[in-house]
Amino acid sequence: MGPGPSDVSPRVLNALARPTLGHLDPQFIGLMDEVGDLMRYVFRTKNTLTMPISAPGSAGMEACFANLVEPNDKVIVCINGVFGGRMKENVIRCGGVAVEVVSPWGTQTSPEALEAALKQHPDTKIVAFVHAETSTGVRNDAETLCRIAKQHNCLTIVDTVTSLAGVQLEVDDWQIDATYSGSQKCLSCVPGISPVSFSDAAVNVIQNRKTPVQSWFLDMNLIVGYWGKGAKRAYHHTAPVNSLYAIHESLLMVHQEGLENAWQRHAAHHQKLVNGLESLGLSFAVSQDYRLPQLNVVNIPDGVDDAAVRSELLRRFGLEIGAGLGEFAGKVWRIGLMGSTCTEKNVQHCIAALDAVLN
Ligand code: PLP
Repeated sequence: MGPGPSDVSPRVLNALARPTLGHLDPQFIGLMDEVGDLMRYVFRTKNTLTMPISAPGSAGMEACFANLVEPNDKVIVCINGVFGGRMKENVIRCGGVAVEVVSPWGTQTSPEALEAALKQHPDTKIVAFVHAETSTGVRNDAETLCRIAKQHNCLTIVDTVTSLAGVQLEVDDWQIDATYSGSQKCLSCVPGISPVSFSDAAVNVIQNRKTPVQSWFLDMNLIVGYWGKGAKRAYHHTAPVNSLYAIHESLLMVHQEGLENAWQRHAAHHQKLVNGLESLGLSFAVSQDYRLPQLNVVNIPDGVDDAAVRSELLRRFGLEIGAGLGEFAGKVWRIGLMGSTCTEKNVQHCIAALDAVLN
């Protein structure tokens, strides 16, 4: 019950163990088509360029920035946690100019601050932010931030690593131009695959760059020949065939449950966890108005030894919870309720184990 990877179900592990087909085998190519369609389902998009990057979420992040940011492009990056900070690093490494909109850890990115930055920097090309900040447990208001960005004719890049399949996400309706996620959070697949999706506007920008994408591996202009919808499936790299069986299976599981039911399950079990933790006298670091149900950030009570509690939970109860990151290190615990981990049984186990260790 940490901040990811979440529990991988036996169904997904069985899929992983299936015989390895060639990455150009017709049967495997059929599976690739289904993976694309299922990713469009979970992202709620019709984007043609929707596919898995053969690497973890950080590579999905690099793919979005490396393809859309050219030298001297101005990018507003909203930062209220670790992963927003990494977005800024990506902009700089692409030769772009990063303008930071910083909000305190544990709070949402302020729409007013974004609006002010856009007025101050009318030449901004892209607005980037994290939907679900895993370091703080904050859900940023993606719909509002994208609407403001669009009023200023900007493209939007949104990190959905922790949000996808855990809370509402509407790639098309919210006008998200580029997004990347991860396999290991609410999809409950093995780590190492990053679903990405690019709008037609973003594809148009990528196809009309003045400079080549610096990364050969992540250049979407090249990958589409293998992964694109209706593509010739020409060799680009050797796809991680078994990991793709696994993500196919985990996407099918979300489809079978129903995406909205999955959001609802996360919300319901989160509420039970809140009730249980509050009854132990624990408090949450984030306002309930924008708390993530899948990533619960709890204040460590005064005088309690952070590391000792976590190692006791692991040793006596086989339970892993996450430590604080960055500014929150030593101050909070991060309790994940992601995907297959998000069950009534786990909620009860966590509350009972914390009760036993703390009292
Ligand atoms: N973005 C967010 C919000 C994350 O939580 C993570 C990982 O936890 C990443 C990006 C990076 O993903 P990965 O560790 O799969 O590279």
